[in-house]
Amino acid sequence: MSSPGEIITRNLHTVRQTIAATARAAGRNPEEIRLIAVSKNQPRAAIEAAVGAGQRAFGENTVQEALAKIPHFTGRGLEWHFIGHLQSNKARFIPGNFSWVHALDSLKLAQRLSRLAQEQGAVVNTLIEVNVARDPRKHGVAPEALFPLLEQLLRENPSGIALRGLMAIGPHPAAEPELRAAFAAVRKLRDDCRRRFGAKDFTELSMGMSGDYIAAVTEGATMLRVGTAIFGGRGREDN
Ligand SMILES: *Cc1c(COP(=O)(O)O)cnc(C)c1O
Repeated sequence: MSSPGEIITRNLHTVRQTIAATARAAGRNPEEIRLIAVSKNQPRAAIEAAVGAGQRAFGENTVQEALAKIPHFTGRGLEWHFIGHLQSNKARFIPGNFSWVHALDSLKLAQRLSRLAQEQGAVVNTLIEVNVARDPRKHGVAPEALFPLLEQLLRENPSGIALRGLMAIGPHPAAEPELRAAFAAVRKLRDDCRRRFGAKDFTELSMGMSGDYIAAVTEGATMLRVGTAIFGGRGREDN
């Protein structure tokens, strides 16, 4: 029998190898892909095990749960990503705790985060979530609403937040060709944003989860949000 920590170490190793092999097969440099271990609904010991196996970037999707964990890892060089839908009354907990917010979807939230980040002297990296599958159950901006939102954001240029790219959740369930097409569409949107607005730091593509990260790597993801493939089941599935 393996201990939970040994299983996490082995899973991380497997995921990293798969990312590297897929990246090379696609002619990409594996170094340009950041693996975010999604630790939502996982105990602190699971995060500890992943840290022991060299993992540095972690993702959480509720502020309350994250705030119960993050302080225990102060000074360990970890990088926390907020990957859930951020309610504006929770935004004040972001600067100082999270260096990345993956699901920016309104000017109002950007303005609020900007003000809070400035107050704390922090910089929050943000990604705009695109609802590429046009799934009414999902958050994010519709593809046709992306340019107008980005244009407004760039015009206001709020201090304290950096606009770094796009985030998307792949269609589910979906076969490989459909997944690849959806991820390729997000990549194209990012490229169009960069070209149209000359946004040179708008480079990131957060896409790919346990079930579809291989397709995401092939189609250009720079950030993968992987939970169950690293930690195993969460026991309670909440989204
Ligand atoms: C939970 C979650 C993930 C990780 O999902 P797994 O299928 O466990 O890899 C990734 N992204 C978001 C936005 C999530 O909420």
